[in-house]
Amino acid sequence: MLPLPIFQHHAPRTLEEVVALLGTHGADARLIAGGTDLLPNMKHGLVEPEHLISLAAVDELRGIAITDDHLVVGAMTTLDVIAGDARVREHAAGFAEACGLVGGPHHRRMGTLGGNVCLDTRCVYYNQTYFWRQSLGFCLKKDGTQCHVVSSGKNCVAAASNDSASTLMVLGGIIELRGPKGARSVAADDFYTPDGIYNTVKGRDEIVTGVRIPLRKGRSSAYEKLRRRASIDYPALSVAVRIDRDAEGAIEDADLVVSALASRPKRIKAAGRHLRGVDGDALPGAIQAAAEAAYKGSKPLTNIDQDPEWRREMARVLVRKALTRATTS
Ligand SMILES: Cc1cc2nc3c(=O)[nH]c(=O)nc-3n(C[C@H](O)[C@H](O)[C@H](O)COP(=O)(O)OP(=O)(O)OC[C@H]3O[C@@H](n4cnc5c(N)ncnc54)[C@H](O)[C@@H]3O)c2cc1C
Ligand code: SF4
Repeated sequence: MLPLPIFQHHAPRTLEEVVALLGTHGADARLIAGGTDLLPNMKHGLVEPEHLISLAAVDELRGIAITDDHLVVGAMTTLDVIAGDARVREHAAGFAEACGLVGGPHHRRMGTLGGNVCLDTRCVYYNQTYFWRQSLGFCLKKDGTQCHVVSSGKNCVAAASNDSASTLMVLGGIIELRGPKGARSVAADDFYTPDGIYNTVKGRDEIVTGVRIPLRKGRSSAYEKLRRRASIDYPALSVAVRIDRDAEGAIEDADLVVSALASRPKRIKAAGRHLRGVDGDALPGAIQAAAEAAYKGSKPLTNIDQDPEWRREMARVLVRKALTRATTS
């Protein structure tokens, strides 16, 4: 059994108290929501915070609401609640599907949106015990100087493995942040960076308070995920798509993002070009062209212990499945 290291636990009841604690303890503190990722990582010695700030009692961070033009989801809303919510399924089906495919039922019941949005990147050489990593000489992301995925690499390329990220990108999601310096909103597109060591623009002293997703008539979306065991595993590849139709039903805009390849989810721009303006008999050909574009644009690395060529081949399959569902729903 792996023991947890020693830390000081804080249990604030309001967002104001959380922000004050972040201001005091800054880089030495970590927020803990459901703890489904943070606690295993602490047991593996991957993160060693002196202070844990629990969000469990901060009720104002929970809930789902519809405003005039947005679907708003609080950071402490659990993934099972999001996946099962009729409003989320109606307005952002791909996002609901992604939340419903995270881990297993226990992870979704404990795991929150904020924790998923801020999930640490993963790598087969990193998500291991201290003893395992030590025997390999550690790596760039933690305690070492070398990358075992790209041996001459100067940057960590651990995989973005959170299911919600790519769906928030295609749906134009906005991440709401609060910190000692105030509040700010960052488009999901700008939130993730290609740095596997820390792949978001969130300051160490900031909290994600929630996510806003714009509402639009004629919009549909879908999410597909490749994983070894459908009952529990992280994505080995994932595909998020969005289709916007005009009043006549023609495809006005489309977006496709693939993830679990490198540290930042990747937009396949050509897919949108193939699909825009298409309808009727031309649709199967456009979907196939988008699938080919995703195959060409997907270059899986050995950061996940599943065959990169297989993951790449499956990009075609997942894109076809996701686009077929999104264009017929
Ligand atoms: C066996 C297993 C399988 C899993 N499978 C998947 C999977 O398929 N897909 C997937 O996406 N995830 C998976 N996970 C990871 C995890 O369960 C989910 O990502 C979950 O959503 C994390 O949420 P949490 O509330 O438990 O986060 P925590 O573990 O509490 O926190 C995760 C990180 O987010 C930070 N954080 C938490 N809340 C906030 C906030 N509001 N603002 C800023 N930072 C915050 C924490 O400081 C920490 O760095 C799996 C985990 C396990 C153990
Ligand atoms: S990609 Fe390289 S540096 Fe990053 S976690 Fe994996 S082995 Fe370490």
